[in-house]
Amino acid sequence: MSEKVVIIGSGPAGWAAAIYTARANLEPLVVEGAETEDNRQKGTLPLGQLALTTEVENYPGFPVANLGGYLAAAISEERRYRLADHRGHGVSGPELMELMRQQAVNFGTRVLTHDVVDIDLSRHPFRLTTAGADEGDRQSIEALAVIVATGARANYLGLPSEDKFKNAGVSACAVCDGALPRFRNKPLVVIGGGDSAMEEAGYLSKFASKVFIVHRRDKFRASKIMADRVLANPKIEPKWNSVVEEVLGDDARGVTGVRLRHAEQAGQTEVIEAAGYFAAIGHTPNTDFLKGQLTLNAKGYIAWTTPQRTYTNVEGVFAAGDVADDYYRQAITAAGSGCMAALDAERWLAAKGFE
Ligand SMILES: Cc1cc2nc3c(=O)[nH]c(=O)nc-3n(C[C@H](O)[C@H](O)[C@H](O)COP(=O)(O)OP(=O)(O)OC[C@H]3O[C@@H](n4cnc5c(N)ncnc54)[C@H](O)[C@@H]3O)c2cc1C
Repeated sequence: MSEKVVIIGSGPAGWAAAIYTARANLEPLVVEGAETEDNRQKGTLPLGQLALTTEVENYPGFPVANLGGYLAAAISEERRYRLADHRGHGVSGPELMELMRQQAVNFGTRVLTHDVVDIDLSRHPFRLTTAGADEGDRQSIEALAVIVATGARANYLGLPSEDKFKNAGVSACAVCDGALPRFRNKPLVVIGGGDSAMEEAGYLSKFASKVFIVHRRDKFRASKIMADRVLANPKIEPKWNSVVEEVLGDDARGVTGVRLRHAEQAGQTEVIEAAGYFAAIGHTPNTDFLKGQLTLNAKGYIAWTTPQRTYTNVEGVFAAGDVADDYYRQAITAAGSGCMAALDAERWLAAKGFE
């Protein structure tokens, strides 16, 4: 028998879609991703990007400094080990994601800890093939409606030192992390030369004592208007023809600086002191399994086909969150579009007489 709605992905968009479809009696199945080493390496383990961070200070509804008692009541004991001890000014990313997951489960959402590895949208019901962490652990699922909420992952340079200091001064989101105390009134480094690097640098200049933009060429790739704005900002200094060789730091302080190498002149290095390192070299949407099935834009994101709707080019397939949005990229916007996708799916199923 076909599932009424299958939701692929386990970030804020996926759980919001699950909460809404569950409450509409659509008995959703969430395919949340597999617990594999490959997903760990890529940063796409279940619970999405927020599970990779510490404080989340901008998600409405969590003004408290200590959620301990509430979390203990809300989250089952066997999943509580995932929650950090950390208590900042809000909720931590893993805590928020566990709470969203639990809320979806409380309304009857079923969860499969598999990746969708293949999908056939040319037939209806749609057919999905999933795989878990164990070799040979595969399932075939049919679905009347599908909500794709597989998110995106931030690109990093791939240096071991970058990995080491993630959540200790290395970030890929200025809007998310720029206002944290560790970055305030300190020098910071942004890596990149496109529009998003210009945006990140401009945003960070509000908090930082100084922002260095490290770029491997002698000219930004960003649009002229954005590059000009950055170049006119007295707090921002470009480091042209430079590549990061290593992120410097220690266990106690986290990031303390970067060592740069001249892009062309071998052996020429420079150390910059900085309390933060922001990678702004783009994101990769998690859409590999959709290629040839759904219209993607030039950057590989799912293309929404109608303004203010989560429709894709295939009727009955909806997209929510960062997988279709390379502009806002926030938990609250992802959750918002997850709600929209749930309502769109519910109305589509009703209109087709599938209820
Ligand atoms: C380090 C960091 C800190 C951040 N801090 C903040 C913050 O403070 N505030 C804020 O608002 N935003 C923050 N963001 C951005 C925020 O995390 C994202 O905008 C949000 O998580 C996007 O949600 P999503 O539901 O679209 O997907 P994601 O969170 O990207 O989750 C999608 C998940 O779906 C699963 N998936 C992927 N492919 C498949 C597949 N084929 N089959 C099954 N499952 C799959 C994976 O588990 C993947 O992780 C941060 C991002 C990062 C990286």
